[in-house]
Amino acid sequence: LPRMQRGLPQKRNIPNVKKVIAVSSAKGGVGKSTIAVNLALSFACSGYRAGILDTDIFGPSIPTLLNLSGEPRLSSNNQLIPLSNYGLKSMSMGYLIPEEAPVAWRGLMVMKALQQLLHEVDWGGLDVLVLDMPPGTGDVQLTITQQVNVDGAIIITTPSDLSLKDAVKGVSLFRKTSIPLLGLISNMSSFICPSCSTPHPIFGSQKHISDMCHQQDLKLLGEIPLDARICEMADAGRPTVVGDPDGARARVFEEIAREV
Ligand code: ADP
Repeated sequence: LPRMQRGLPQKRNIPNVKKVIAVSSAKGGVGKSTIAVNLALSFACSGYRAGILDTDIFGPSIPTLLNLSGEPRLSSNNQLIPLSNYGLKSMSMGYLIPEEAPVAWRGLMVMKALQQLLHEVDWGGLDVLVLDMPPGTGDVQLTITQQVNVDGAIIITTPSDLSLKDAVKGVSLFRKTSIPLLGLISNMSSFICPSCSTPHPIFGSQKHISDMCHQQDLKLLGEIPLDARICEMADAGRPTVVGDPDGARARVFEEIAREV
């Protein structure tokens, strides 16, 4: 049955964007925003017209990660003009509300803000837009997956059992809403000891990840170690792909970007 007849809203395209890739995680703090921004920067560095949309209304990270702040200007037809750094366009709730303001918004206002972020940004022609999704499978995620044409989704998880259990919920949300799953990225997959270079699987064995990929029929797109430099560069607003472009760490992100 067509969507309308099943009582589902018609999915809409994000205007002026060729391809939309959602980066999602079940839990917060697993590195979703860090990976989303590094992937978007990899696209931009490869010559694609790329953007990132931070849909995490309660905890926007993109302004810090891209070292951007300030209110976006409005275009002549009242659309938000993205802020750019390192050749990457971005839009985030963080630009629209003061950092210290408590975002204790009622559901309706959150949804209104989300509609503005999804449909009222003047991207000015993009090859690829990365959607940094909020963690979990709540209202915002449902709205995006049901209302927006998303070309593919990437799931971020650590190898810990807790993170993986919830990641399965994310997988089923995308499957239910007919969004193709591009694959899974295992973040903080191991800790490489700086003195002896031995990898330590502190969040659990990598076998958990391969079992999950097998059970859920998901491709493993890459494994990113827990690495203090990734965190330092992200916190400094100069993520790995632009902070250390020739290093091995940046190559991992670039290879994943090429694969999707
Ligand atoms: P999420 O978007 O899932 O909430 P973030 O991307 O904000 O997570 O990451 C949470 C914290 O973990 C940040 O301080 C980030 O710099 C750090 N981090 C993410 N991935 C790594 C990694 N592979 N190695 C070290 N630190 C990381």
